Amino acid sequence: MHFTRLRLNGFKSFVDPTELVIRNGLTGVVGPNGCGKSNLLEALRWVMGENRPTAMRGSGMEDVVFAGTNSRGARAFAEVALSVDNSDRLAPAGFNDSDTLDITRRITRDAGSAYKVNGKDVRARDVQMLFADASTGAHSPALVRQGQISELINAKPKARRRILEEAAGISGLYQRRHEAELR
Ligand code: ATP
Ligand code: MG
Repeated sequence: MHFTRLRLNGFKSFVDPTELVIRNGLTGVVGPNGCGKSNLLEALRWVMGENRPTAMRGSGMEDVVFAGTNSRGARAFAEVALSVDNSDRLAPAGFNDSDTLDITRRITRDAGSAYKVNGKDVRARDVQMLFADASTGAHSPALVRQGQISELINAKPKARRRILEEAAGISGLYQRRHEAELR
């Protein structure tokens, strides 16, 4: 599976619809301070099911919605869509009948998040599981936040173990076991 396209609409500083094509190989995002580079990475995490406001540098989940500026009003919703090439058919069962997966997450103020995969309503957990085994998920160590290196150095052993498990690609198994135990 690999990412091919990211679209943002009303997400943080990306108030106008913005589309990025992600080609194979290395992609660089450059720009002056405050132009939205970190916001892009956060959009990627968010559409994969990130639910911790702190990981979005906010205090509540609605903080990802464009908050308005002196010249433009706030938006009522934010939407991020991620296209994934699944021609290698490595997506988990249930998502594996198509070469392309379009994952969409939309948040409306006071109404929470809604997710879709290829236009079909799904739960947050479905999207999280979709990426959990691919080691690219919302909590993946492959996505290193600004300031995270120093956090890693200072992490307690338990937190560091979670990072290693994620890197080893077994956190999806843990989630499934947890779900099985709840049943
Ligand atoms: P640096 O190079 O300093 O790391 P950056 O390119 O990573 O900068 P970001 O942190 O992605 O920049 O973007 C910060 C900008 O996004 C700020 O101008 C901030 O006001 C704006 N921003 C964040 N959240 C929102 C929001 N909900 N509504 C409007 N603007 C927002
Ligand atoms: Mg930044």
